[in-house]
Amino acid sequence: METSEAKRLFEKLKIRTLLDLALILPSSYEDTRLSGRIEEGKIQTFEARVLEVEDRGAQMKVRFELSRFRVQMTGVFFRATPYHRKLFTPGTHHVIRGKVGRFRQWLQITQPQSLKHYGTLLARYKTPLKESEIRALIDTYVTEQNLYTEGLESLEVQTLLRFHFPERYALEASTDYDDATRRVLKFVEAYNHLRKLRSKRHDYPAIKALRGSAEPFIRGLPFTLTEDQRRVIGDVAADLGRRDRAAKRMIIGDVGSGKTMVILAAAAIAGKDRSLLMAPTSILARQLYEEACKHLPSDLRVALVMQNGQEGEYRHADFIIGTHALLYLDDLPPAALVMVDEQHRFGTKQRAMLEAMVSRGERRPHYLQFSATPIPRTQAMMESELVEVSLITSTPFEKSVHSQVIGRKDFPRLLQHIESELAQDHQVLIVYPLVEESSEIPYQSIDEARGFWEKRYEGVYVTHGRDRNKEEVLLNFRKEGRILLATTVIEVGISLPRLTTIVIVGAERLGLATLHQLRGRVGRNGLESWCYLYTNAEKSERLERFCETTSGFEIARLDLLYRNSGDILDGTIQSGQKFRWLDLAEDEEIVRQAKARLGERQTEGG
Ligand code: ADP
Ligand code: MG
Repeated sequence: METSEAKRLFEKLKIRTLLDLALILPSSYEDTRLSGRIEEGKIQTFEARVLEVEDRGAQMKVRFELSRFRVQMTGVFFRATPYHRKLFTPGTHHVIRGKVGRFRQWLQITQPQSLKHYGTLLARYKTPLKESEIRALIDTYVTEQNLYTEGLESLEVQTLLRFHFPERYALEASTDYDDATRRVLKFVEAYNHLRKLRSKRHDYPAIKALRGSAEPFIRGLPFTLTEDQRRVIGDVAADLGRRDRAAKRMIIGDVGSGKTMVILAAAAIAGKDRSLLMAPTSILARQLYEEACKHLPSDLRVALVMQNGQEGEYRHADFIIGTHALLYLDDLPPAALVMVDEQHRFGTKQRAMLEAMVSRGERRPHYLQFSATPIPRTQAMMESELVEVSLITSTPFEKSVHSQVIGRKDFPRLLQHIESELAQDHQVLIVYPLVEESSEIPYQSIDEARGFWEKRYEGVYVTHGRDRNKEEVLLNFRKEGRILLATTVIEVGISLPRLTTIVIVGAERLGLATLHQLRGRVGRNGLESWCYLYTNAEKSERLERFCETTSGFEIARLDLLYRNSGDILDGTIQSGQKFRWLDLAEDEEIVRQAKARLGERQTEGG
């Protein structure tokens, strides 16, 4: 097959690699080999001679003799055509194929075909290509040698070849997969995906190796760092110390896991070689600025840059913190380290821009991203082919948050709870699905509900995603509010230390990751807290299991688990499942093995 033709077919199949092709498995098999024995219930192929024909109009019965077995078998045609009548005349020989059964004591074969070509076992594929095209592709590329060259080992190679070339390998072909086969397919799928990711990775030399010490900063802290924080700072220090390769690392940890200390440690290591930090909101940027001023050694000059004002002189600062306003400075000084906090709240372009602003030719700044969106461990293992990943799975202090699914009948009890919290000068957040009334959603909107709360309580504040004054409302609420009504869109960047209760209305409509983000708002300072998932739905195992854990990483796994089982989230069935065999919620060990295999190949120089 011509390479250009193969390329066209690969594109049509929307695949890129040889293993993508090998993983397109047959949807069925056509077995026209002569059957060795007669088995009722199966589609079988026999040599047969016509003895006599009984023609009853539409229905026709043909008595065959199976020469090899010396038995008779009746062929039944329910819709006989002139073709059948001409074909099956007494005395003629055929190779017939059809489903074997029994009628009374008679062996019977239903609507048999007379085959011209027989004696083969062929794989059939369901693809946008013609049968001959996919066949040619498979024959050309899915060869034993190619599969070994791709890095597979004999069990994997044999398993794949058996599917595509059953005749050569197995007596019987089947599209049922046993556990051992599934495992192999999962492995090949994981391995193929990892290789693709790895081939996408591009590394650049760093502007500078940063070898300052974080120790003075760490010793000056009013608390001791958690083991996780220390480990990640170690990862980061090792990255920053290289000049041959600019760091590319993603640090992922739940809200409250203490990522800021990692940011500050990195800034301390960079020292006078200057670092930049971008945060998604001005509240957050200011908070980071204040923490930097408080904890970093005083010889490091820190500056804050926002759309509506600055603090410190950024042109001469060692550590420049800002919002996306940083992207619009035309006199940003050179920097050797770039960091982005809450990276998922920026677009890809924005994130790349900051890095580009301080790149110098081939040389790139070290680049660290921070994310509060935990991903399943398996996914982190995969992603780490593209960027290094550090996970922070513990928090500095044990959070005490009680989570509970509640319904309409629990409302009086909820009000009691809210009142007792308010009496202790604590705050309450109630999250509604919508701002305005809608017939689509069987819950109250903020507009419908606010009257109820405002009539009963002082200090009720309202905001939502499209609210222009959101930040101001939040700051006022933090100071003097009691109850905040909001929508899910409010990604509160600021900490609300007195917030002890969150009520999420219509919780079953939300993904677990969103629920987790929302729940992360309460109990940030170790105060005993409550998260109520309000739902009209009958019973939800998904929500119940959410209530049993507070680990973002476990929740990410549960999220996958329930998505895979076709749960309806946020009103739509989650699609975009990337893998046919691999289950990221369960197959950690397989991903680990696939990574190890890839690692071996790397060191062999393969
Ligand atoms: P994140 O950015 O991961 O959501 P932060 O860095 O804002 O979390 O940390 C949350 C809170 O925990 C902050 O008030 C911070 O000062 C505090 N903190 C961080 N690390 C520790 C620690 N090792 N011991 C005690 N408190 C800590
Ligand atoms: Mg943070």
